[in-house]
Amino acid sequence: MEKTFMPPFKTAEALLDHQLNGLQWTVAHAYSGSAFYRKQFEKAGVMPGDVKTLDDIARLPFTTGNDLKEGYPFPLLSVPEKDVVRIHASSGTTGKRKVLTYTQKDLDTWFDMFARCYEMAGVTPEDRVQIAVGYGVWTAGMGFQMGCERLGAMAVPVGPGNIDMQCRFLEDLGSTVFCCTASMALLMAEEVHKRGLKDKIKLKRIILGSERSSASMRAKIKDLLGLTDMFDITGMTELYGPGTGLDCPRHEGIHYWADKYILEILDPDTLEPVADGEVGEMVVTTLEKEASPLIRYRTRDLTRKIAKPCSCGSILPMHDRIMGRSDDMIVLRGVNIYPGQIDEVLSSISEAGSEYQVHLERKEDGKDYMVIKAEAKQGLDPSAAARSGIR
Ligand code: ZN
Repeated sequence: MEKTFMPPFKTAEALLDHQLNGLQWTVAHAYSGSAFYRKQFEKAGVMPGDVKTLDDIARLPFTTGNDLKEGYPFPLLSVPEKDVVRIHASSGTTGKRKVLTYTQKDLDTWFDMFARCYEMAGVTPEDRVQIAVGYGVWTAGMGFQMGCERLGAMAVPVGPGNIDMQCRFLEDLGSTVFCCTASMALLMAEEVHKRGLKDKIKLKRIILGSERSSASMRAKIKDLLGLTDMFDITGMTELYGPGTGLDCPRHEGIHYWADKYILEILDPDTLEPVADGEVGEMVVTTLEKEASPLIRYRTRDLTRKIAKPCSCGSILPMHDRIMGRSDDMIVLRGVNIYPGQIDEVLSSISEAGSEYQVHLERKEDGKDYMVIKAEAKQGLDPSAAARSGIR
């Protein structure tokens, strides 16, 4: 049988059992290994022995990005420093970066998760994977590289930019998979088109990290490069790095690795779970992370869970695309509104461009009003714009 990086569980119940074991281990490990977590647990009045079911996660204290900055340089450290084999840091431009520590086991877990992403995207050891993301203290390059080698495919580590070398290697080495950001993918697609290389390259798949991309942009990239498929990979430095989820070839949502972390979707205001399928903040708890475990870490990213299972048959659950940051949430007449929802509405109006402003006002009647001013699409006939209410 082929080597697989998919979880060994056959049923949802087995997955939940595994989650409970992981949660109990993580809480006991963080309590005994980290003064920060011990203090947090004591403040919340909860002891490791109190976690008896998965629902008991609601009793655990939250961890925030601020906690990571305050604990600089080694926040959340829960193992002796001698067991740390690597650090990575977030690419923050202001103030202190978030530095995350890894044991060898943490790295192995991360690369297995990343290899699972490649496997789910249909990448095999026969493939040649050209990696056009940044290498260094941030997690992107290392994740794509080590995940590729773990799977057994051939890594071509070019790094970002360097369009001439990218094109040369696509042609000479016959790379079949390309990993980059959405804007880099568009740039490459246009470059390959301009240089007339489409029939000389063997590119089949693109794996996109970090940036959001529109449907029209994706269609253009796919067409110009003659791809069979494109995938979105998720992840953040705090949670190992990229590689913690991917949309499968059915593209019905993003499968996330529920055997490695628990995902809660909470109302950012009340910190209570949202109703099934509603948008809320992603809050993650790791199940086997040793050096910097996360307990109810508030990611500030917004999405919703997708309730129905994927038609691909995987037992790994799914969430929707990231719809913005919880810091950008507006409460209008008691309803939580997120920028991603406005994007979604505007993208369904063919005359609307992608830039818009939101004007909020409380009028004399005491009610809140929201006006959205959207840019008209480039080249739009002004009379058509007027008809659709866009100025
Ligand atoms: Zn699927």
